[in-house]
Amino acid sequence: MLLSVPLSALNRVGNSTAQHLKKLGLETVQDLLFYFPFRYDDFSQSTPINKVVAGQNVSIKGTIELIQNKRSLRQKRQLTEALVSDDSGTIKVIWFNQAFIAQNLKPGDLVSLAGKTAENYGQLSLVSPQYEKAGDEQLIHTQGLVPVYPLTANLTEKQLRFLIKQALPAAIKIEEWLPTDILKNLNLLSITEAIKQAHFPKNLSEAHKAKQRLGFDELFLRQLRSQVLKYQLQNKSAPKILFQEILTRQFVNQLPFQLTTGQKNAAWEILQDINKNSPMSRLLEGDVGSGKTVVAAMALFNVAINKHQGALMAPTEILASQHYDSISKLLTPFNTKLALLTGSQAEANFALPKKKEEQRQVIIKEAEIIIGTQALIQNYNIPRLALVIVDEQHRFGVRQRQKLQQSGELWPHFLSMTATPIPRSLALSIYGDLDISLIKEMPKNRLPIITKVIAEDNRQQAYDFILQKINLGQQAFVICPLVNESDKLGVKSATNVYKHLKAEIFPQLNIGLIHGRLKSTEKEKIMKEFADNKINILVATAVVEVGVDVPNASVMLIEGAERFGLAQLHQFRGRVGRGREQSYCLLLTSNDQQNPKTALRLQALSKYNDGLSLARMDLKLRGAGDLYGLVQSGFPELKIASLFDHELIKKAQMAAAEIINRDPDLSKHPLIKERLLTSESGEAHLE
Ligand code: ADP
Ligand code: MG
Repeated sequence: MLLSVPLSALNRVGNSTAQHLKKLGLETVQDLLFYFPFRYDDFSQSTPINKVVAGQNVSIKGTIELIQNKRSLRQKRQLTEALVSDDSGTIKVIWFNQAFIAQNLKPGDLVSLAGKTAENYGQLSLVSPQYEKAGDEQLIHTQGLVPVYPLTANLTEKQLRFLIKQALPAAIKIEEWLPTDILKNLNLLSITEAIKQAHFPKNLSEAHKAKQRLGFDELFLRQLRSQVLKYQLQNKSAPKILFQEILTRQFVNQLPFQLTTGQKNAAWEILQDINKNSPMSRLLEGDVGSGKTVVAAMALFNVAINKHQGALMAPTEILASQHYDSISKLLTPFNTKLALLTGSQAEANFALPKKKEEQRQVIIKEAEIIIGTQALIQNYNIPRLALVIVDEQHRFGVRQRQKLQQSGELWPHFLSMTATPIPRSLALSIYGDLDISLIKEMPKNRLPIITKVIAEDNRQQAYDFILQKINLGQQAFVICPLVNESDKLGVKSATNVYKHLKAEIFPQLNIGLIHGRLKSTEKEKIMKEFADNKINILVATAVVEVGVDVPNASVMLIEGAERFGLAQLHQFRGRVGRGREQSYCLLLTSNDQQNPKTALRLQALSKYNDGLSLARMDLKLRGAGDLYGLVQSGFPELKIASLFDHELIKKAQMAAAEIINRDPDLSKHPLIKERLLTSESGEAHLE
């Protein structure tokens, strides 16, 4: 079987199955081989029937004594009931709405069953187990370590396992792309072995070895990309931005606050970096509200005075326009030419031509600081670009950075800003090539936000509290979760909450609604009204998550708080507590029986006010899998490797550095080069 064989050519893949597989990105045999389980069900021990107890996952082997279909009267469901026995005893087995099973299995058949046991009216039964006729060559659904794959609707685990089993012999055709010495030195499995063992390992140690090898591939590629960029940048020049001491001092002195030590240090590191001829590559890390914007403004200001151009890119148009407003304010006394340029906005603090088509060109040419979204760098050629700052865009990776060079000879300096607390070693694996500046402390005199978990029963109290604050002239956010997957932007729930608040709870107040489906001009208008205190309560979806700055908002109510991750809740909460008033964050949770971990998670928020402690807490609660919602907060996720496998990360980094040092354009490693060029985000430009 060839790797390129379309899945529709496989046994039991009809048109509709092929469509469903396509939804998972699976079109060829090769795709299937690289579609890995996210866990294994351990059915390696089969249990004698008389040892089975209720409420467990078990695997049993026995003979079908009796099997028949029934209609359950009350529930109008089709039932298939069987009695299965082994040497030790007999157990009842039930399936729902799968009448065909009674055709597949006949009395006398030896079967292997795996599933959960339950007790009903004192009778023990096995409910809807996976089944296989024993005696089939190799059992893949009910014995040993059974792989469990991520699925979409209309596909079953059983189908997928069946297909992967069919595809597995083709694994031998997958070309080994890692050099033999790396495989040998690091004691890694060959790619073919790794793929076979990842799908159907004989034991956990095989599964582990497979994961090591496949995880290494992932980390190694990532590190190669960083190293290639680092190597390329070594020989590049960047505009030298002379430090403008006098004006910078003036800028700092006219601020309405004193910079924190962390802000000063970070700014100093950045200003020193851009005062060099080689391009800066730096990450600025600081918790929500630590004041990264003013640090960015200082760097941009220095660029402007040097008669170069700086660009600041935000993840959304709302945030871009907020940055534009706040940086305009910070730079008011200095006549710096500032512009906002996004898909739908073109604004500047200097004269623009009337004609829309001409405005953008004038901005690109004349503005000293341009604020926009990521499209800025992709769509325009900024002639004197000397500094690019990206705010909260974790996906702005090596590939995007390689496109930063505009028409000229020079490369711009690069600064990435994030509020996600990333341990240094982790940052190394994500951004192997960035230097790091850290703002550790929060501005002084800031009152910690008071966070309370509130049960559904006490909803009215929360409303009363909000009203009280609004009567004092303050404002509130109400954040809504997604209703369901099909409502990805959460528009439905936000709209419902909005209507309810407006009609029933606060008819006397001005309530606003903002969500991702609104046009950006509308969004901006609403944000402006909220900032001007014309709206008392702003109902919002996750669009307000990052960066929004309305200091007069002092209460945030979060609906369905249990549905959000800690990181996201912390980000939301960072939208209040920005002014002088004491601020509050109210976490509303549904009354349904609550997962104790969820409760702990939410309590952690009322206990800790800083991202780092929360991250530690999250790590304890969730395990290292998805630390602090890194994946959720838009980090380029790893499919296989863990970001916490420091040892593997180190190995990958060393192996990558060694190869790039010896063979920078990878001409002696054609397979690696090809892999780098074809892999998902691997548009590395190898000159
Ligand atoms: P973030 O790091 O989350 O991007 P911002 O830059 O938006 O934080 O700053 C949050 C708020 O704190 C803003 O209103 C800003 O004006 C204010 N701020 C920044 N630095 C200081 C400081 N040193 N002292 C007091 N307030 C500050
Ligand atoms: Mg910010």
